[in-house]
This record gives sequence, C-alpha cells and structure tokens, in this order.
Amino acid sequence: MTKTLSTLAQDSDYDPNSMPVAKAREYIRAFLAPVRGVERLHVRDTQGRVLAEDVISAIDVPAHDNSAMDGYAFRHADLGEAGATLAVIGTSFAGRPCEAEARAGQAVRIMTGGVMPVGADTVIMQERVTAAAGTVSIPGGQQKGQNVRLAGGDIRKGGVVFPAGQLMRPAEIGMLASLGIGEVGVYRRLRVAFFSTGDELVGIGQPLGPGQIYDSNRYTIHAMLERLGVDAIDLGVVRDDPALIRRAFTEASAIADVVITSGGVSVGEADFVKQILDELGEVLFWKIAMRPGRPLAYGKLRQAHFFGLPGNPVSAMVTFYQFVREALLVLMGVPHPAPIPTFKAACTSAIRKTPGRTEFQRGILSQGDDGRWSVRTTGDQGSQVLSSMSAANCFIVLPDDQGNTPPGAEVDVQLLEGIL
Ligand code: AMP
Ligand code: MG
Repeated sequence: MTKTLSTLAQDSDYDPNSMPVAKAREYIRAFLAPVRGVERLHVRDTQGRVLAEDVISAIDVPAHDNSAMDGYAFRHADLGEAGATLAVIGTSFAGRPCEAEARAGQAVRIMTGGVMPVGADTVIMQERVTAAAGTVSIPGGQQKGQNVRLAGGDIRKGGVVFPAGQLMRPAEIGMLASLGIGEVGVYRRLRVAFFSTGDELVGIGQPLGPGQIYDSNRYTIHAMLERLGVDAIDLGVVRDDPALIRRAFTEASAIADVVITSGGVSVGEADFVKQILDELGEVLFWKIAMRPGRPLAYGKLRQAHFFGLPGNPVSAMVTFYQFVREALLVLMGVPHPAPIPTFKAACTSAIRKTPGRTEFQRGILSQGDDGRWSVRTTGDQGSQVLSSMSAANCFIVLPDDQGNTPPGAEVDVQLLEGIL
C-alpha cells in the first residue's frame, strides 16, 4: 500500500511536466508521517504545539450546577400560574455558596457563577422580579431549569477533551487550564533547515555588486516558519557550485526533519541540483500547472523531507503556502490540517487568464459602503514583485479550467490574514 517516490511514475495520471496543484498535494501527503518524539510541557508553553496524547478530563466543567445570571434561585414547583412571593434566605456568590437549603417558599439571591443552593432548580434574572425587604415576587410562566448551567455541561469528567493531533491555540490552552491540567505531552518541535541558492545573491550588510540582488527568500521563509512554530535552522546562501550544494544538502539532511531551499529548481539549473539530490536520496522535480510557482521539487534526502521552492520571491511564498505549510502541519502531528479559509467574492478587476493552470493572484479584499466584501488584484502580478504579497490580504484562486474573468465575476478568495 505504501508508495515509494519511484513508483509514482506508474500512476496513469502522473505527469511531472504538468502536475495539477491538487495532485501534487496528494502525492506529497502520501509520504508524510508525524515526528516521533514527545515532550511534556507546561500548558503555558504549548502554543503552536500539537498534542501527542488524548487529554482526558478528571473533573466536570463546570464542577457544580451554577447560575448563568445575577438573580434569584428558587424551586420551580413553588410557582403557581400567577407566580409567587418567596422569602429570601441568603445569597450565593461566585466562589462563596449559600450554605442554606432552599425549602418550599424560599429563594436565594444568586450571582452569575454562584453555586445553585440545594433544593433550588431554576433562576430568574433580577430585572424580572420585584424585590422587597426579605422577599422577592416572581411572575408566573418561568421554565423549569432556566438560567442554570449544569455540572459537566461544558466538559464531562472522564471525557476526551482533545484528541491527540490537536493544535494548541489560546482557546485550547485556556481549556486545559480550566481543567486544572498543568502539563501535557506534545510532539517535539519540527526541525526545518533552509538555505537559498544562487550566485547572484548577497546577504544583508554587504554592498550590492553589478547584477547582484539581496537574498530575500531566506527571510520570508524564516518568518513563515516562525509563524508555524517550528525550529528554523538558517543555513545561509549557497553558491551554484556542485561541491557547495552537495555539502549543504548533506549537512541539512543530517540535522533536520525537513530541508527547504529556494532557487535552482528551474530548467537548466535543476540539472546539477538533480544529480546531487539523486545521490543523496530520491527527489522529484515537477512543473506544477500553476502560476506563480511552476517548478517545485519534493522528495526525501535520507530521512528528511525536501522541498525545493522556486527562486522568484512571490513563487517561493505561494508554493510555501500551497504545499509546504500543510505538509509541515502534518509532520508536526496535525492529521488533517484545516485548509486556508476560502470563500467567494465579486472581483472588481478584469483578469486575463489562460485555462490549464491554477493561478494564485494577489488580491485585496475590502468591504464596501454597502457592507459587501469584494476583491481586486494588487496590480502587477510578476512573480518577482514581492510588494504584491505585502499589499495583498488574500489570494484570488482561479482554477485550472477558468479563462478570462470579466469585472464583477465571483472568484474564490483564500484568506492570508491570520493563517499560520
Ligand atoms: P531561480 O529559481 O534560481 O532560477 O531564480 C529565479 C529568480 O528568482 C531569479 O531572478 C533569481 O535572482 C531570483 N531569486 C532566487 N533566489 C532568490 C532569493 N533568495 N531572494 C530573492 N530573489 C531570488
Ligand atoms: Mg538560481
């Protein structure tokens, strides 16, 4: 059942020269398994980590029946059709219960979160009653059990709160704290080594010579990796020199779970990179039917997963978001990463497009005076125009079969804000 990279070529629809986006994702997915190592961390330190074990609750949450309102707790059976006037025998504050039992004809003043007194089963909010010295008049027509939060209503003792594979975010961290859980087992951090390739690249702090450019991909990739909470290992810029590239790949695959490079996977350059990768492992070079980001390499270098991203700065980001992000989440232990939120919006710009590939245009989603959201492109969609990624808050995703898009047409929009 398990595929090896070399057997992919036997798939009838496997075409490395025109690989649909979804197919590439599916192929990559087939080779991913979560990291093995587990460590125990204080809940406070688990943000962005993935649970390696089911979390079971040792308590009911809430622990007691309690009031959802400031008001009065009473026995529903006491109310006739016209209501009743009851004697107020005490107060139940949150964290300071009323010791007395509410007997027939009695009510207890109760605050939000206050434990329900013994005997009482219903709460009425204070705005609905008439209070006098020592008594409260409650109108008829109240529902039995109203405004009462039942013990275990949120989480039951012994129940699975989160299964293994849960990504920890602020709400999950708060939930564990609400259960009194101090430590949990999470997968160890994924180690991701990355470097840029290219003779033309210069690092920050050095002057630019003729024809040289600053290496930006290493910084973008580092930032995207940081957001995912992996251990990002920067191996610098590697010249287009077979000996240096071989050394970099050897070093990277020895220390990391994942190796990411940018540049050097387009035709021509790919040839000697390919040769080196063939020596160290099994790597596939694909021309993805997409724009930007056509060339992409994926494979294994010894035990490490390898992603060779295109060099153009926008292409590197788009391929990271479309392929690498999800793969890293799976390797981090999330079995089914949530897809990037995608929905329809009217596109105010006309877009020229050739059918046969998926385009990820950079878009600006904004809300009009009428409250409706619409999207427009950022303008120049050149794959070297990194400012288009900065101006964008979404990708406009135009599927394979789509051609030119007239202004006003509905398009798929993939939200960039807030994704990992
Ligand atoms: P390549 O994929 O190596 O053929 O590179 C494609 C284009 O992206 C070329 O114009 C490169 O100069 C540019 N490029 C490659 N790597 C980087 C990088 N790390 N930062 C900025 N631009 C790059
Ligand atoms: Mg290059």
